[in-house]
Amino acid sequence: MKVAIFSAKNYDRQFLQEANQDHGHELVYFEPRLTSETAALATDFPAVCAFINDELNAETLEAISANGTKLIALRSAGFNNVDIETAVKLGITVVRVPAYSPYAVAEHAAGLILTLNRKYHRAYSRVRESNFSLNGLLGFDLHGSTVGIVGTGKIGVCFAQIMKGFGCKLIAYDVFQNPSCLELGVKYVDLPELLANSDIVSLHCPLTPETYHIINAESLQYFKQGSMLINTSRGGLIDTKAIIDALKSRKIGFLGLDVYELEGNLFFEDLSDEVIQDDIFQRLLTFPNVVITGHQAFFTRNALQNIAQTTISNITDIAQGKVCANEVKI
Ligand code: NAD
Repeated sequence: MKVAIFSAKNYDRQFLQEANQDHGHELVYFEPRLTSETAALATDFPAVCAFINDELNAETLEAISANGTKLIALRSAGFNNVDIETAVKLGITVVRVPAYSPYAVAEHAAGLILTLNRKYHRAYSRVRESNFSLNGLLGFDLHGSTVGIVGTGKIGVCFAQIMKGFGCKLIAYDVFQNPSCLELGVKYVDLPELLANSDIVSLHCPLTPETYHIINAESLQYFKQGSMLINTSRGGLIDTKAIIDALKSRKIGFLGLDVYELEGNLFFEDLSDEVIQDDIFQRLLTFPNVVITGHQAFFTRNALQNIAQTTISNITDIAQGKVCANEVKI
């Protein structure tokens, strides 16, 4: 099948080429994001392959559908950037990669916790400048701390296993109780109770209309004073203006983000010579107790290999008229 691959970086090409060796699809790479403005690039491609910040809203879907696209192969687990109802109406099939490496994301969440707590980023710079002072580097034992996990699916369970290894007490909130978490001794509670009792809260639920801004001015009131919030899931889970207020009042004592609600205009690009226009993001960067990474939690070679293999075999399934287990249904 002829596939237009959007938001394509060198690393995507490398892993997709390898995965495609036995499948023989015609892969054409486009660096820009897929939006209504770039949709014309997909003209005469029966399939497009998209990533998390591609904008598959109604306008884009109508444009690519009019130009002959029948399949969207997402290189991601999350599909919050696709207007699925419109895709169904237009007869476009959407497939995704439901699991590629839950370990990658869970390990990154643990990394953010350790960095915020023990301040490795500050220590690294200090020691390189022969400043061996420990002032400002004081942390706390993770052992015995209470960790609240919001969303205990594939990534949430891996994260629970890691934090159990540190000797943390684990509580969780989810619309379903995961037996693997119960086996680990995780106690399920409602969201206000989780927020009120956790020293560290980590978000691992998908972005849906129900979870949009699940962390907002109201829910922030439940948090313990000075607690830590980690988001490696999707930026839209947090109301950024409300979190800035909570950082200023020190309600939130540490914030670790791999995702940001307006990341589409920023992440995955080198903007080091640009003037960033997003004042809210720039304000976040001024806090000493905030660590932000640019949506890299998934970025391990194991994950990229799995993403590429599943994406290519999803495309092959559809090209051969087979039922694809990874099709997104409403
Ligand atoms: P999953 O589907 O296995 O688990 C999601 C869990 O969230 C499920 O247990 C589900 O019941 C729960 N959930 C759904 N709605 C909820 C609600 N309203 N309240 C509480 N819990 C709810 O997904 P996963 O593989 O564990 O991935 C979780 C999320 O991580 C993805 O949706 C994606 O947004 C994000 N992600 C981020 C990266 C990254 O690089 N930063 C990479 C992969 C995935």
